[in-house]
Order: sequence, then C-alpha cells, then structure tokens
Amino acid sequence: MLHNRISSAQGFLERHGVDAIVFFNLSNIRYLAGFTGSDGALVLGKDTGRFLTDSRYVTQAANEVTAFETTQYRVKLEGVNSELKRMGAGKIGFEAEHTSVAQLNALADGLPGVEFKPIGAELDDIRIVKDDEEVGLLARCAEIASRALLDILDKLRPGAVERNVAIALEFAMREAGADDKSFDFIVASGARGALPHGKASSKEIGANELVTLDFGAIYQGYHSDETVTVAVGTPDERQREIYSIVKDAHDLALEAVRPGMTFRELDGMARNHIDSKGYGSYFGHGLGHGVGLDVHERPVVSPRSDGVVEEGMVFTIEPGIYIPGWGGVRIEDTVLATADGCRILTQIPKELMIL
Ligand code: ZN
Ligand code: ZN
Repeated sequence: MLHNRISSAQGFLERHGVDAIVFFNLSNIRYLAGFTGSDGALVLGKDTGRFLTDSRYVTQAANEVTAFETTQYRVKLEGVNSELKRMGAGKIGFEAEHTSVAQLNALADGLPGVEFKPIGAELDDIRIVKDDEEVGLLARCAEIASRALLDILDKLRPGAVERNVAIALEFAMREAGADDKSFDFIVASGARGALPHGKASSKEIGANELVTLDFGAIYQGYHSDETVTVAVGTPDERQREIYSIVKDAHDLALEAVRPGMTFRELDGMARNHIDSKGYGSYFGHGLGHGVGLDVHERPVVSPRSDGVVEEGMVFTIEPGIYIPGWGGVRIEDTVLATADGCRILTQIPKELMIL
C-alpha cells in the first residue's frame, strides 16, 4: 500500500520539476511513511527518501517506518539540510501550505545555490484519492460516530445542557472504539442553530427547538464528520419547511455525485435548490470538504472549486440554512465517490427525527 502511495507522490516530483520534496506536514508524513508521532520530516527523492526524527521517536520510527531509512537529528532543520546535501538535490520542492518562513529561510541559508520551489495546496492531493485500506478505516470511523449519536439520543430533551450532550456523545464514542473526537462538537439549539460553528455551550435545550449536532470520531488516524439536526418536541411549520429545503438540497447533491463532474457543479446542485426557495443568502459556506487523515482536507467542494470528482475521493455534503435570531438547519453526510455515484459512509438516516 505504502509503495503505491510513494510512487504516486514521486510522480509529483517530475510534474513540478524538482529533485526532492521536503515534507513537514505530519498527515502527509503519516500517509507516505506510516509514522504516527508528533515530530519529524520526510525528504522524498526520485527513487529514494529518508525519514528524519529526534531521539524521542527513534524506537517508534523503527517499528512504524519500514519504507524509508530513518535518520536521527538533534536540530531538525540541520538534519534536513544534511540529507538534502547528501542527495545532491539542486531544486527542492516544499509544502507552501505547511512550511514556515523561518523553516524555509533556515533551509535556504544552509544550502546556498540551491533553488527552493513552493508547491501549493495541490501537493496535499497526494492524499485526495483514498485506497481500500483508507476507505475501510473511514467507514469504520463513521460507523463508530453514528452509533454513538444514536446511543445518546435520549439525552436530547428540554432542559438538557448542550455541553453535557457533547460530553455524553464523546464518552459514547470512546466506548464504541474511537481513539479521540475529530473536533470540538457542535451542539447548537434554538437560535444558536444560526451559528454554523456553534460549539456546545452552557445553554439549555428548550421545548420545541431544533438542535444541530456536528460530530465525528478519530480511528487509527482517520476522521469522520456528520451533522444531524433533530427536533426536540413538536416542530412548527417553519421548522419543517426549512428542514425539508435543506434535506432536499442534500439529497439532490448526493444523487448527483458522479466521477467527471466538477465540485462547483456538485455544490450548485444543493445551492441552486436553496436559492430557488429564497434562502440562498442564508447558505454562506461551501457544500463540503474532503475527509481523511485531516478532518478538513482536499478536495474543496464549493462554488469556487475547479476540482473534478474522481472515484475513490471521500468528501462531505453539508448544506445548511442559518437565519439570525431564528436558528438553523444543517445536514451532513460523508461520502465515497464510486464509479457511478457514491456510497454514504455516515450511517444516520437524515429524515427529520422528532424526539
Ligand atoms: Zn461536520
Ligand atoms: Zn464537515
């Protein structure tokens, strides 16, 4: 598996005309080298490569990093520089999105005459198409999180504090096998539902409020991401109306997923529907994002995205309507693009749940 990933990353060297690429981003390093620790660097050459880390991680790297030799450094950038010198690289690519100015200056100062070439966000595209092992982990992760939410639905009742719901959900997720939570959960009830990123607060859930819960698990490094909006008590006509507009937008996008379409077109499937119902100005964010070793990664699913859907990509579809002072609805699933559509990895049915 790693062998395929490494050779496809080596294709990037040719495409960008560089002799080597320096990776500092730990998700990229984990993807290519299997290292799960919290500090290190990877220098990837055309037919060679080396993983570098400090003394804390040498033993761990000996177990985890099998495709590359590991070198121990005392000072990270000095270690990277001597490796680049040893390789004789004349033109070196780096992760423009993940390399600091200070890191770049230190590398350049140590290697006079060598050219450094920034490679933008597209370098993270080495991870954009998931292999079978990754799909298995992403599916497992989504299943853990979905099951945990179903296990704590009885906590969602008038008088329950949002933060306590979030804690119960995290506990249930850990019990179900999660290594951690993907991010701080959003539990946004009533008017707080208008905040797309309304982290669980000390607010009590009121009677007949909608509650938006956005949550996910981490399992073996992979993330899940799912949002449900439920009604606690009896939803009124407006709550039902807004819910069904968002649900239809979500379904239209799910049904439209096909390899070859652009992410802009996919975004439009949901956005045009919300627009046509008069709520376009209340849907301010993109339709979705990739999910993998990071909870937000490539591809970008938005009106500005030129990217094209490919079989094996995993991304979210999460339309929403947010009305200040009233509240909001978001519905989110994580999907795997297949040869002729998509497979939904998140497991909770998205019909309006009335609790
Ligand atoms: Zn989410
Ligand atoms: Zn999301």
